[in-house]
Parts: sequence; structure tokens; C-alpha cells
Amino acid sequence: MSVKVYRDGGIVIEVDNRRVLVDPVSLPRRKPDVVFVSHAHSDHARLRPLRVLSKVPKILSRATKEVLDPRGTLTNVVFAEDASSVEVAGLTLETYEAGHVVGSLQLAVNASTRVVYTGDFCLERRLVLRPARILRADALIIDATYGHPRYSFPPRPELYRQLLRTLEAASSGGVLFAARPLGTGQELTAVISLVAKLTPFVARPVGAFNRLYERYGEYLGSYVIHPAPPRDSVAVVPLNDHPAGAVVCTGWAVAEGVPLSSHADFDDVVRYAVESRAQTVFTFSAHAKYLAVFLRREYGVEAHPVESDAASAPHNIF
Ligand SMILES: [Zn+2]
Repeated sequence: MSVKVYRDGGIVIEVDNRRVLVDPVSLPRRKPDVVFVSHAHSDHARLRPLRVLSKVPKILSRATKEVLDPRGTLTNVVFAEDASSVEVAGLTLETYEAGHVVGSLQLAVNASTRVVYTGDFCLERRLVLRPARILRADALIIDATYGHPRYSFPPRPELYRQLLRTLEAASSGGVLFAARPLGTGQELTAVISLVAKLTPFVARPVGAFNRLYERYGEYLGSYVIHPAPPRDSVAVVPLNDHPAGAVVCTGWAVAEGVPLSSHADFDDVVRYAVESRAQTVFTFSAHAKYLAVFLRREYGVEAHPVESDAASAPHNIF
């Protein structure tokens, strides 16, 4: 049994010369046997490589496909959901909810060993979605976006209280909350509407994803989609295009805003790695190197960042 993990267009899980390409953002040099897309954020999925790999089976959720491929151009799509199992190229591929954004999935590749890819995930109970389950793994590939101790966030009840205090303290009666349109935007809408009992304006990109969540069974309460929410209103606006004075809601804003995030924080990332009982852990995203060193030093597990260089030597783990 040979298992390798490396980058080539995305992250490749190679089991006995069969390649599972996960979350491709560019064309791989070597054709994969199957592609898995965890969710629709652009750092995990791009339409072009998926279209070029037209004959390769692509495993993704219906919600992810709606966002990624609104014109329905993709071929060989295999829809997956929580607790799906698909046999492809002699491999058994299982998918499980990741709790990150609507339709986000984790992947387990089963051969004589079990390799789990978390994608972006969230373990916390929140007003939207169900939290991810921690999957048992021999080898684990885990999101390290917040894989550094400075990104330890307060639990959800405390974060929601912080949002309510912000609303109560707004002298003009208005607060603009800036968040990622797909993910935290929907949680903010639900907190303002269902907990604070207000009807927020939401900017169009947020509103479009609110509707998507509702089509997949989430309840966000009442809100009004507005092209340009006025400054003296209570509103949710996109993080990448927010006016000065907006309350920034993302894990990156742990020091100056509200660290409301759709990702696991540092403590939950470490908890996942430990409770998965993986003997080998691969880390990806912003703090991959730090997290790998931390897991080696504190828990004695074999841990490596997945190399970001497409020409990097594959890690042979078994
Ligand atoms: Zn994401």
C-alpha cells in the first residue's frame, strides 16, 4: 500500500497510483482519476480546471455546484451529501458535512488505510448549519487557516452576546457588519434577525447566498436585500468592499473586530487532529507550517505542511 499527499493543481491524495485531486484551483500536470470539491470558496474551487477535466468524475454537493457552475456546464458530476459513499477507480470515497458553508463536505478515502481531508470546517454549534463531525483517520489532511494560538476565539454564546452589545451601543441606531458573503454573512443575518429581533438590510451578494441557504433548508429570519445599505441602518455588507467604520466580522479580526468565523479556531483544529487519532497529519492553508511544528512538538504526531510548490516531492506516508 502506497499513499502520497502532494500538490498538483490542488491537493492530490495518491493511493496505489490512483489519484484523487481535491479542491483544484488550477490544471494539474497529471490527470487525476477523480476530483473532489469541498466547497465553493474560490481558494478551494475554480470552474476552469473542472471544465477542462471533462471526462473525470467530479464529486461535490448540489449547493456547491449551484454556486460554482450556475450555467450548468460541468460534466461527469457525482452529487454527494452528508454520509454519502461512492466507488470510483477502485476507491471508496465517503463524504461528510464540514459545517463551514452550505454544501461544504469533508472527504474520507478508504483503501487499506483511511485518509481524511477536512476541507474548511467548523466544529461549533451555531445558528446556521450543523457542525462537522470529527472523522477517524490513519492520515489526516487538515485546514490550518487559524492554526496558530493567536486565533483562539470565544465560544458562540459569547460572540453572539458581543454582537448584541454592539447593536445596543450603536448611538445612531445603525451598525454595518462586514463579513464574507458566503459563510459568516448568513450567520450574522440569523443573529440579527432571530436573536436581536431586528430586520437587517443585507447587500446583494450576501442576500443571494442567504437565498441559497434557505433553498437548502436553513432559516435565517427576516431581512431585506438592498443594493447599498445606508450607513444609519443595521446591515450586513461584504467584507472585501466595506465602508470605514463597519464592524469587521472574521477570524482575522480577532484583535479589532468580532472573530465570528465559519472556520475552526486553533483549539478546534488541534482537537480535530488529536481526536481523529491520525498517525500522520498534513496541514494546509495560512498557518500550515506552524501547526505542523506544534503537533509534532506537543503531541508527537508525524506532521507536515502540504508543500505549496507544484514541483514538491510527494510525501510517502505508508
Ligand atoms: Zn472556505
